[in-house]
Amino acid sequence: MAQSFVEPDKTPLALLLLGQDADPDSERGVECPGDLPPASDPDLVARAAAAKAALGDRVFILGHHYQRDEVIQFADVTGDSFKLSQQAAARPEAEFVVFAGVHFMAESADILTADHQQVILPDLAAGCSMADMAAMHQVDEAWQTLTRWDLADSTIPITYMNSSADIKAFTGRNGGSICTSSNARRSLEWAFERGERVLFLPDQHLGRNTAVRDLGMSLEDCVVWDPHKPDGGLTIEQARSARMLLWKGHCSVHGRFTAESVDDVRDRMPGITVLVHPECRHEVINKADLVGSTEFIIATIDAAPAGSAFAVGTELNLVRRLALRHPDKTVVFLDKAVCFCSTMNRIDLPHLVWSLENLVEGRVVNQITVDPDTAHWARVALDRMLALPGVATSTAPVD
Ligand code: SF4
Repeated sequence: MAQSFVEPDKTPLALLLLGQDADPDSERGVECPGDLPPASDPDLVARAAAAKAALGDRVFILGHHYQRDEVIQFADVTGDSFKLSQQAAARPEAEFVVFAGVHFMAESADILTADHQQVILPDLAAGCSMADMAAMHQVDEAWQTLTRWDLADSTIPITYMNSSADIKAFTGRNGGSICTSSNARRSLEWAFERGERVLFLPDQHLGRNTAVRDLGMSLEDCVVWDPHKPDGGLTIEQARSARMLLWKGHCSVHGRFTAESVDDVRDRMPGITVLVHPECRHEVINKADLVGSTEFIIATIDAAPAGSAFAVGTELNLVRRLALRHPDKTVVFLDKAVCFCSTMNRIDLPHLVWSLENLVEGRVVNQITVDPDTAHWARVALDRMLALPGVATSTAPVD
């Protein structure tokens, strides 16, 4: 039986017994069949290199910025999830797309790539706790409530890229659009040309930060829809008068940073620039100097003059790599406590070697597929985002 350490009526947490079974309510998957090489195998790097060389142009390895160094070294391209999916789609000669990232990213890659391309996630248990916080049945219930309240017709769903394919498809079916952390403002503006309020899924922080910081709304314009409470915990009057219905979801990595983290680093390192991702809490955003997507964070530090100092509020693997890449600058993690994305870290060298060597042997393992109807409507929502001015030609960074 699946075990997920979940109270019966609560959203599943990002925990599975490692390598055991599946959580049916989660976007995450099941154990890897077959034998993984031991992590202690001294030949893992050589084995990965040999398998990749044997596959040649047939394989394209995508490495998300938050991945471990041991995996990133084999990536043909690194980036955020949307940029990586676009890159895979631009390589039709690659029969196999190995996505070193998390499940929703591999789904997006399957939606955006051609039918003959097979997308592989080296460890099916690499999910995303934020994506898991919006289960399809919960979103359906919320929409039914809004319909019963006669509010659905005036509500536009805007869904963050960090979501499962079925939530993206829900968005497409109901007149909404996907957004990334760099185009959330344009997506919201687009939505308010079409409706009176937005149902923003699944990251309450990105929704609130964009509405208040970029669109000048007040915090009172934003209410939280709690899927664990009847009618989202709201009255019809609260929902009707709100401009933003924020789904009660968050990133377990970026949600850890606090206003005290900012105060503390400023005390320790006076004059440091605090640079954070918009998935952080609103009080953190308010205290930061700069706010932007992963690609914005990378570009800002790359472009800064020698001697600059940054405290960065995003995933630790990326912050550590940026610090190593810029020995002439000071780049520190915003929080004192170490905080990796634990599900991203599920992809390690043994899983990469295992998936590549199986491909060499002619076995496609851990393929991620999205059914045609879901893929169609998710694509509709993605295409609405791409049609926003400037988005299709930009890298549209996310996560
Ligand atoms: S960093 Fe946050 S949003 Fe990104 S995969 Fe991890 S839990 Fe999900």
